[in-house]
Amino acid sequence: MSDVQYLRSLLKAHPDFPKKGIVFLDIFPILRDPVAFETLITHFVHHITSDVIPRTHSKKIDVVVGLDARGFLLGPIIAMRLGAAFVPVRKQGKLPGECVSATYEKEYGSDSFEMQADAIKPGQNVIIIDDLIATGGSAKAAGELVAKQGGNTLKYLFIIELTFLKGSASLDAPVYSIVQED
Ligand code: IMP
Repeated sequence: MSDVQYLRSLLKAHPDFPKKGIVFLDIFPILRDPVAFETLITHFVHHITSDVIPRTHSKKIDVVVGLDARGFLLGPIIAMRLGAAFVPVRKQGKLPGECVSATYEKEYGSDSFEMQADAIKPGQNVIIIDDLIATGGSAKAAGELVAKQGGNTLKYLFIIELTFLKGSASLDAPVYSIVQED
């Protein structure tokens, strides 16, 4: 079985969560299994070092940005493997000090994401990670925060991409997803 087939086999679909009509894909069975979690992280790191860095002619990744909340479980481990900084993007009002913010549309109404204003230096190479991309609204807002600080987003990384929602089309850099659901 390939890495992708193995990781895909562990995802669990929960119908009608968090509300009726939504099928929630749960990544936590991967994190519960140490071999699967190692496989997941190594898969991302391999993609970054063998594809993202050479393709963009970059020396290194400076910053890994993780989205609230499951991006926080993946980003710091990948950052440590790459020798990069980890920077969180959080829902409004959670981060201390001066912040930059960006608004994104949710199913009902809008929400804001924030990043600490001194988190990224102009010209730094950034990758952005979360567990899943649906409409792409939250990833787009994270990309705007990186751009506001002069960072250079090289790639957006996800475990799962809901391809039928075409979220990647709204982003300012290419997407890599391990599992595509259509
Ligand atoms: P988007 O902004 O529409 O792309 O939604 C992506 C955000 O919603 C991410 O932060 C995901 O963690 C979360 N999300 C949406 N659907 C699911 C799901 O089925 N499983 C896990 N997270 C989800």
